[in-house]
Amino acid sequence: MTQPIVHIFPCLQDNYGLLIHDPATGETATIDTPDAGTILAAAEAKGWKITQIWNTHWHQDHAGGNAEIVAATGAKVVGPQEVDRIATVPDRVLHEGDTVKLGSVTANILETPGHTLGHIVYHIPAAKIAFVGDTLFALGCGRLFEGTPGQMWSSMSKLRALPDDTVVYCAHEYTASNAAFALSVDAENKDLIAYADDVKAKRAKGLATVPTTVGREKAANPFMRANDPKLQAFVGHAGDEVATFAEVRERKNKF
Ligand code: ZN
Ligand code: FE
Repeated sequence: MTQPIVHIFPCLQDNYGLLIHDPATGETATIDTPDAGTILAAAEAKGWKITQIWNTHWHQDHAGGNAEIVAATGAKVVGPQEVDRIATVPDRVLHEGDTVKLGSVTANILETPGHTLGHIVYHIPAAKIAFVGDTLFALGCGRLFEGTPGQMWSSMSKLRALPDDTVVYCAHEYTASNAAFALSVDAENKDLIAYADDVKAKRAKGLATVPTTVGREKAANPFMRANDPKLQAFVGHAGDEVATFAEVRERKNKF
């Protein structure tokens, strides 16, 4: 495998468009389809032809551009079955443990229910890259529209188990508001304080805070830290990871 190239660019209000390109074969996938026009233009500017669509979940800002990109490029769609709620059924429906090939690049599929029940993550171990959709955000996590706190915490635990140096591409730029919330529940966490300062500096210059890494999120993201005794005690659920995760998510909803 040659190291794939990832191109990240803003889409819609606060989504990120993501293209992954295999220089060895020329294959290119778009991770989700928030805005077909922007994604097609980004690929064209790079001189890349989109050959695959990798969907993470069924929401409009993730699969809403599938039809237009397929019509323009003939790309093959892979993703969870639930994409059929707003688009045609993926050409290949993916499940936990499946692998997807983009030329010489191989991604492993993790099922991460919580934000939606069918949400999946694409992990490319050889390249140390993960595309996490709306499951994990920098210093945050997706809202629990369909799943339970227990499901989402177990999804977080799957991502916690990836190597610390895995580069994590989230689907939205929510980090500044996530940082303010994170500090409200974990104010003395030195890694979080340093991370929040870094986010402030980056956003002041209009820079992206995505990608992040698994190690960074494990150290600072309260949604990845429901097993931390200090956080558990702070929210009043010592010894209970799921109750801690649920309470932190509930507080974020009201923040
Ligand atoms: Zn979503
Ligand atoms: Fe989204």
